[in-house]
Parts: sequence; structure tokens; C-alpha cells
Amino acid sequence: MKKSSVKFAELVDLFAELPTVGRKSAFKIAYHLLFEDNFKAVKLSHLIEEAVREVRKCDVCGNITEDEICYICADEERDARRLCVVASAKDIFSLELSGGYNGKYFVFEELKATTVEKLEECVKDGVEEVIFAFTPSVESDGLIVYLEDRLSSYSVSFTKIAHGVPTGVSFENIDTVSLARAIESRVKA
Ligand SMILES: [Zn+2]
Repeated sequence: MKKSSVKFAELVDLFAELPTVGRKSAFKIAYHLLFEDNFKAVKLSHLIEEAVREVRKCDVCGNITEDEICYICADEERDARRLCVVASAKDIFSLELSGGYNGKYFVFEELKATTVEKLEECVKDGVEEVIFAFTPSVESDGLIVYLEDRLSSYSVSFTKIAHGVPTGVSFENIDTVSLARAIESRVKA
């Protein structure tokens, strides 16, 4: 098929590769940026460049930040006795939106020796309760059992979120009320 503009087609292809953006939306976004809001297009390209350069993961918990330590780790008002372990920094964003939690976080993205060591470092630091906030699945249940075993020498209790989070559904697709309830009504893990 002939393309009226190769550049335009490339832009549509690229947008279509983004999460949750289908081809129709990709076309609409590309058209909007090029013909309806030029200014936004330029602003967007600058902002993406800056963000790629400056945004990073927190050295302690893995949250998104522009500093070495994120605002949650740095906040002394938060309850440092509670550590909520999530699978992605995106989940911190969803849980913070729900407003149901005031402790600290740890992002456990991948089962690696260094990640387990980092988690241990956090747990050592006066934590009394480790809350596993993973989307329920066979894999996450296995990971919880493994981590409990690894952390068994510390005097901490283990809990996990119980209700409101269906199997296999990621936190960003769950409404904030259900998510707040899920973390409040946690059970022994
Ligand atoms: Zn942090």
C-alpha cells in the first residue's frame, strides 16, 4: 500500500507499539499532534527527552524518582514499620492513588540475588510487617513462600492483600476504592 507520508506512517507505527494504544488511536494521536496541536507535539518531544535523561529508580525501594532516594523513602512521617512489596513501580502509583496505605514500599521486579539482598536491607531497618501486594497468581504465591523463607530470620509478620484484586488483573486496572480495601483487609501470608 502506498503511504501519503512515510514520516507520518512511521509516527503512527511507533504510537501503535505503545501499551494500550491500538492502530486507530495511534492514527488519531499522530494526526492531532501534527495538524491540530503543533505546540503540544514539540513540548511532548522535549519532555520525553528530558524525562528519559532524568527520571530513574530510587536506590532504596525502586520507586520512580529524579533523585537518589524517592519522596516516600525520604518521608519521615510515613510508617517505617510497614513495608509493602509490589511487583512494579507502577503499582506504587496505583496504591498511592487509593490512599489506603501510609507505610513504605519495595519494588520486587525480578527474582535476582541483588533484589533479595536489597529487600533484606530494607527489612532489617526496623520493619515489623511485610505486606505482599502482588496480583494473585501461582507464580506470586510461590514468590511469597520463597521470600518468607529468605526473611525468616527477622522478627517480622507477613501479610498479603486478600480481597478485591482478581487473579491476573494488574493494579492499574483496579479502581482505587477496591485497592484501598484490598490493602486494608490483608491476611496472614
Ligand atoms: Zn524509595
